[in-house]
Amino acid sequence: MQTPIPFYLDEILEKVRYQDGGAVADYIPQLAAANPSYLGAALCTTTGHLYSAGDDEEEFTMQSISKPFIYALALQEYGLEEVRSLVGMEPSGEAFNELSLNRDDHRPVNPMINAGAMTVTQLINGVDSGVDERVEHIRKYLSRLAGRDLTIDYQTCDSELEHAERNLSLAHMLRNYDIIQDDAHDAVMTYTLQCSTKVTVKDLAVISATLANGGTQPITGEKILDADVCRLTQAVMSSAGMYDGAGRWMAEVGIPAKSGVSGGLLGTLPGQLGIATFSPRLNTEGNSVRGVEAFKLLSQEMGLHLMATDQRYGVAPIREVEIIDDTAIVRLQGVMNFSAAESILYRLEDYEITAEQVLLDFSQVTTVNRIGRTMLKEGLRRMREAGFKIGVIDPDELIKDRTMRDGTQVRRDDTEDFMIEGEELW
Ligand code: GLN
Repeated sequence: MQTPIPFYLDEILEKVRYQDGGAVADYIPQLAAANPSYLGAALCTTTGHLYSAGDDEEEFTMQSISKPFIYALALQEYGLEEVRSLVGMEPSGEAFNELSLNRDDHRPVNPMINAGAMTVTQLINGVDSGVDERVEHIRKYLSRLAGRDLTIDYQTCDSELEHAERNLSLAHMLRNYDIIQDDAHDAVMTYTLQCSTKVTVKDLAVISATLANGGTQPITGEKILDADVCRLTQAVMSSAGMYDGAGRWMAEVGIPAKSGVSGGLLGTLPGQLGIATFSPRLNTEGNSVRGVEAFKLLSQEMGLHLMATDQRYGVAPIREVEIIDDTAIVRLQGVMNFSAAESILYRLEDYEITAEQVLLDFSQVTTVNRIGRTMLKEGLRRMREAGFKIGVIDPDELIKDRTMRDGTQVRRDDTEDFMIEGEELW
């Protein structure tokens, strides 16, 4: 049985492909040359399963997506109090390049836009670090998050530096108020090199899954950040990650996220997964047009809104797999949402089932949400295609609509033989 998740991602990409509004960023000449038709998506679970679709091998520069991760690194190296003495943690509701400082103490308030982000970058590797050492420290750290050696796109960096008046004026302003110690040119150089780190959409999904996983990279298993740091960073992303569209984003999509001008967009579902999209055309707020649409669909169709009340499953979703004669009974338990269904289908893909018939047993399941139901039915349909007889044990009729994708029905088999022993006593 093949898991349907890449297929879902593909379907979402197809639904947003027609959106050809917006324009590639042109204030960085190298970005203006980007192919606007690229479209890719990836999803990585905190258990380390990576799925992707579309242009998933294409590299692009991280740009502002680097901000939350460098913020996390600063929190890790200095702690919240020290970082907060220089940069606040408020959503400023402003554009990314706003000349924005707090009126009283001149601190930048928002670490997710340039003024705050440049200040944060200047902390990395010690305030006395030289540019090269600081950039290398950042590159190595981002590489550990991605689980592969990331490189820097010097062409894009140079091209941005030729037109960096705005960021330079920010850096001069920060230095004027003693918020940063470095020369303004060096500060902008370091920050721009950081923004020029190249990634694929798969890297972004893995990097964000590391935040969602409390700092342990889910594929390499390396512990990179403290859980507290990940919590703080995701909290800031949830209120400030999407520039002047941040409030609407949280209401409509409900996924802590960060976008960048090269067209990348990533989001985290704490404890569950990281997701990312790549499509270079941007809306007026500087967020990827198709990326925003894809995230809206992912949130709605996969039930990923953080404020939804049926998110976690808490217990392993497969209690046991029992073989009775020629039947394999997969006993499920708890809440069947996207994460639970993903985990079940992933395990069934690997499991060597020798029986002729496979039944999914819902007797110990508490609730099934829409995506959980759709995915489990699709899993069953694929098992039938692989030659198994399929069915459900569903005494409480949690799967009321048993119609599958192809219009056929899942058979319900609540016969005594397959019910849990003693259940009738309750
Ligand atoms: N390097 C870009 C800048 O500072 C990043 C901006 C962004 O991605 N929004 O202007």
